[in-house]
Amino acid sequence: MKFVEIYIIGLVFLTVISFSLLPNNSEGLLDVYFFDIGQGDSIFVETIDGKQILIDGGPNNYVIQKLGKVMSFNDKSIDILIISHTDVDHITGLVEVLERYDVDLIIRSNISCETSLCLALEEKISEEDARVWFVDAGDYIDLGHGSYMKILYPFDDEIYNGKPNNNSVVVRLVAGEDSLLLTGDIEKKIESKLLYSESDISADYLKLAHHGSKTSTSEVFLNAVSPSFAFVEVGDNYYGHPNEQVLTRLEKRGIKYYRTDKDGDIRLIMGSQKSLVFILPYVL
Ligand SMILES: [Zn+2]
Repeated sequence: MKFVEIYIIGLVFLTVISFSLLPNNSEGLLDVYFFDIGQGDSIFVETIDGKQILIDGGPNNYVIQKLGKVMSFNDKSIDILIISHTDVDHITGLVEVLERYDVDLIIRSNISCETSLCLALEEKISEEDARVWFVDAGDYIDLGHGSYMKILYPFDDEIYNGKPNNNSVVVRLVAGEDSLLLTGDIEKKIESKLLYSESDISADYLKLAHHGSKTSTSEVFLNAVSPSFAFVEVGDNYYGHPNEQVLTRLEKRGIKYYRTDKDGDIRLIMGSQKSLVFILPYVL
């Protein structure tokens, strides 16, 4: 066999191998994207049978561009929109999302709206033909095929008026053997309330609360959640997010972390066989 033929066969073989290592939707129950949208949160989840969930919309309209990449061109509907809380870095993009997409169900906590942006979002929500569900701890959403979302917070008897961060909806997303804890911007006092609640807060994957701020991710909370991987949704900011001490806490425990400001868009596939869970920087 000539050298050129061996070279071509080798190249084809390597190409096949590298494509087979790339994950696709069929390998897991849930596809989770942590969008790189600057200093804020926006997370997109798609189930194996195509249910789509958007959690927050970030501090600008970049979410529209990102959704255009992960959803097909003519798909203009989102099954579930979760509004973790009403701060600007979580809801700005949602006004445009509601303008462009039909949303079936909106999940949110029962918190009063004070800013003009939040009021604009309220108006858009009222125009949308969506069901609105003010959730409490214990509420459960079945996503099919062994996947579900369980609401861990807010507790039904507690509303922290004036502090949207501590009214964040906290969700434990489960797909087969895998679990992801989505914490919005909750601070340490809510973390400790969760610790003493009845809920299972353990998770393989943790979205760090409040962009890795020092106000959150306490030692005890981290010990209880005990994740293998963590994700930080963060962009350029003046707050020192993510906080160095928080990152050190992760490193000391051997928790590998990804951050959107350094890694870009991040894709996590949940609910495949344990050895086939892929986490990789994914450019959108
Ligand atoms: Zn935030």
